[in-house]
Amino acid sequence: MAKRTIMAAGNWKMNKTPSEAKAFVESLKGLVADAGSEVVVGVPSVCLPAVVEAAKGSNIKVAAQNVHWEASGAYTGEISCAMLKDLNVDYVIIGHSERREYFGETDEMINKKARAILDAGMLPIICCGESLTQREQGVTAEHVRYQIKVALLGLSAEEVSKLVIAYEPIWAIGTGKTATNEQAEEVCGIIRKLVAELYGDDVAEKTRILYGGSVKASNAAELFAMPNIDGGLVGGASLKLDEFEKIAKA
Ligand code: PEP
Repeated sequence: MAKRTIMAAGNWKMNKTPSEAKAFVESLKGLVADAGSEVVVGVPSVCLPAVVEAAKGSNIKVAAQNVHWEASGAYTGEISCAMLKDLNVDYVIIGHSERREYFGETDEMINKKARAILDAGMLPIICCGESLTQREQGVTAEHVRYQIKVALLGLSAEEVSKLVIAYEPIWAIGTGKTATNEQAEEVCGIIRKLVAELYGDDVAEKTRILYGGSVKASNAAELFAMPNIDGGLVGGASLKLDEFEKIAKA
């Protein structure tokens, strides 16, 4: 079975103006042209037009950080999949722990978003992960399995083989405290096993599962070398050109 293409996906969160984003991606293009991984930048919605334009003709793909599942309507402040697709956005990050914690995003909402993103011809990057309390309680596997099982409800085998799952332990996000290679590998393996239970081994061999949580240039290569880890979802380090370049090449 051919190894899955490694993905280095940046999640900029609420950082960079459209002009800063454009300049960053214009510089990044040359640096990652021969990276060998799939390079994705997850940027604030208002930066999407400038970033899609800047990334044109390069190997950089563009992700939004959120979307609404409804096609249109009275949802002040929200953005639809058709709007993102019209801009030529490739991926949408959904279910990030910050959106779950600060904006009340539930597993059911994440499932509806995944459905809408796929229907629009884009791919979701579905985040999951346990809190420190849940890890200490020994319920990490159950929690992550539940999150992913609900997120994937109703999706076809073909869809699941193309989408991306990101395992991000909440205690490792933005804390500088990276999960060990073994901890990250264990949970990514649990997720792959769940995908195999639900969709069969062939699908599970294709679905990319990323690790996220304080990934840096100094730890990316060893994490990405683990058998069930197919790259990283990177917050802080994706805002720095030299760090992100090294991660994309790890
Ligand atoms: C994230 O926001 O998805 C993330 C993993 O952040 P950081 O890399 O800064 O921990």
